[in-house]
Amino acid sequence: YAALIRRNKSDFLSSSYPTIEIPNVIVPEFVFESFDKYPNKVAVECDFTGKKYTFDEIRLKSRNLNTNLRKKLNLKKGDVIAIILPNVADYPICVFGALQAGLVVTTINPSYKSGEISRQLLDCNAKAIVTLSSLYNTVQEILTDAKISIPILTVKTKISSTTPSGAIDLNEFSQTKQDVSDTVEIHPKDVALLLYSSGTTGLSKGVQHTHQSIVANICQTNTEEFKFYPDRSETYENKVLSILPWFHIYGIVAILFNQLRLLTKLICIQKFTPESFIDMLIKHKPTCLHLVPQLILFITNNPLIKSEFLQPVSTVIYGSAPLSETNINAFLNKINRKINLVNGYGLTETIAVCYTSKTSIAKGYFGTMGLFANTSLKIVSPENCNLSLGVNQKGEILVKGPQVMKCYHNRETETKNAFVDGWYITGDLGYYDEKGFVYITDRLKNIIKVNSFQVAPTELEDIIRGFKDVEDTAVIGIPDEQYGEVPLAFVVPVPNKKLNINDLQKYVSTKVVKYKQLKGGVIVVDSLPKNATGKILRNDLLIMYKNQML
Ligand code: AMP
Repeated sequence: YAALIRRNKSDFLSSSYPTIEIPNVIVPEFVFESFDKYPNKVAVECDFTGKKYTFDEIRLKSRNLNTNLRKKLNLKKGDVIAIILPNVADYPICVFGALQAGLVVTTINPSYKSGEISRQLLDCNAKAIVTLSSLYNTVQEILTDAKISIPILTVKTKISSTTPSGAIDLNEFSQTKQDVSDTVEIHPKDVALLLYSSGTTGLSKGVQHTHQSIVANICQTNTEEFKFYPDRSETYENKVLSILPWFHIYGIVAILFNQLRLLTKLICIQKFTPESFIDMLIKHKPTCLHLVPQLILFITNNPLIKSEFLQPVSTVIYGSAPLSETNINAFLNKINRKINLVNGYGLTETIAVCYTSKTSIAKGYFGTMGLFANTSLKIVSPENCNLSLGVNQKGEILVKGPQVMKCYHNRETETKNAFVDGWYITGDLGYYDEKGFVYITDRLKNIIKVNSFQVAPTELEDIIRGFKDVEDTAVIGIPDEQYGEVPLAFVVPVPNKKLNINDLQKYVSTKVVKYKQLKGGVIVVDSLPKNATGKILRNDLLIMYKNQML
């Protein structure tokens, strides 16, 4: 191991890798840096539509879009544009076009229900939207209901689709040739992305990342020690199946930005199905897979996925939720070959912090890689953030580094509460060992991770309280083999009223995207356990649930 602990006199762990200099550039400039090497090679291809763009097309089309967004839609530097798209070939054009125009990009899950979309649009005060032509009517209705009047650009769902009347065809905006000298002055410290996360508690909030924090993180994950892709950029052989959504921090930074910068061909799918995944493995022969634990389990357990389909894969990077050592070993057995298997730990607020494991079946070790360059980590007592713990002592993880968010958008108090002396409070539990390797052991904060997506109990509780005959409620996450965790609601009915659980579950399912629905069920109780200050004792609820299961 290269990483040896370098504990400061003080009470935190610093990266043991040499400090790196972060270039003072904006994201598109940084990502496009080597595009001249393969201008005519395919950079992104949509498996569903067959639509492809070369590296040069991404650069040119995004520049055209940049100018049109400003000239024709009158969007100004700092305005927010919402991208409500699945992974489609036009995604990078939208993002880089908007970023070059000095806009802030917020990304929204296209499967979200109306209320979820309008909440985010209102919170970030979006000034324009890009979505699929098939979603145009839905998005337009959401805007009408929310009394928002902003332009909608659409990407054709299929090549044969037409642009809905009232929408602006993204293709037209990215086609018309523009004057290259017409640019906006953008500073690396300007905000680039506004991605939504609940943090340690409450409803989701806009996490502001600057061009600098993103560029920093791409540099950190590509130092010599952390290079897991065989350098095949000389021959343009790196191919990534991009299944993880680009609306999530992992998808947009680690895959879309980072892999394009490395001149990787990205193959994307609009919707994951087991069949399409198998077809894509056979057809595209990817060299690298970015996964989440549920996809690792799926690959391990699905007999239709033969290990020979995975033959071209040399690197698998996964993160977003824990995966047990048993499951890791089962996956490696299935692959049955030496590969780089890397587990990345990070949050929307911190992007990537460290790789917690580098496993090689040939060497047979299961270890970790320590913190990325320029990053520090502190373990503190969960009861007292000011009390630092030492080697091998479990506690709450705090992080400092250039990749940490600037702030929560328009939320001064939440931002203040998220930091202590400049350290970001992750809400995760873990420890570091003598070598300076970091281990994540549990989650302290009040979020549930379903299929690696965040679910905020507060959001579900607000919705459940809006259902007739509900007096009080508390939602917790319970372990689930397939999804990692699923939400379960404890509900106190209004006195003398009988609650119809099925109706309640149906009601919730009309309000939220599928992964947030109450798959864990509903338990009716007379009261909720609370402490003296009225705070719900969620651990007691988990114990109550476990006792019921016995
Ligand atoms: P998100 O902001 O959606 O990326 O969620 C971040 C949270 O996911 C972290 O605070 C952790 O609780 C969890 N998480 C991310 N990466 C890992 C990992 N490698 N192992 C365990 N949990 C993780």
